Amino acid sequence: MEIDVLQQQCLACRRCGLCETRTNVVFGMGVPDAEVMFVGEGPGASEDEQGLPFVGRSGQLLNHYLEAIDLSRETNVYIANIVKCRPPQNRDPLPEESQACMPWLRQQFQCIRPKIVVCLGRVAAQQMMDPGFSISRDHGKFFEKQGTLFMATYHPAALLRYPVNKPAVFGDFVNLREKITQICEHTY
Ligand code: SF4
Repeated sequence: MEIDVLQQQCLACRRCGLCETRTNVVFGMGVPDAEVMFVGEGPGASEDEQGLPFVGRSGQLLNHYLEAIDLSRETNVYIANIVKCRPPQNRDPLPEESQACMPWLRQQFQCIRPKIVVCLGRVAAQQMMDPGFSISRDHGKFFEKQGTLFMATYHPAALLRYPVNKPAVFGDFVNLREKITQICEHTY
């Protein structure tokens, strides 16, 4: 299925209770055949308002890290979230909400077929990689799962609260750049 068709279907989704409080469904944005995909936990207030992922202050910070290694959502990456509708008060998505929404993300993977997936924050890492995943212990490490490489780093919103972790995230992005040069054919 084309990703545009999938997006149109997702925009009408009412599979979980988050549809009652959302302004917009935040499906995702970026290059449809990106080799690198970023996955966060869910939209915040700015994202809900605009219908686009990572467009608030944390999104601006993410853009800086992307630019530092020649990545951008306009040219070579795709960005999405575990849940496509904003959880009220920016709480973590409930397990049943993540479960209801994951089929959309799985279909996005099937359309995009990324070689590398970067999980932004604990919620995405635990959902995508391992329920016991610890960001502070395992950020920046690559794990292979069904032919795709997964890595996790701190969520940019957490970095705004705890800037002390910014150098660690920069290191993770340097690792990411190295991995891209090793296994991706078209990213740069
Ligand atoms: S969060 Fe996901 S499953 Fe729930 S209504 Fe929104 S798109 Fe549908």
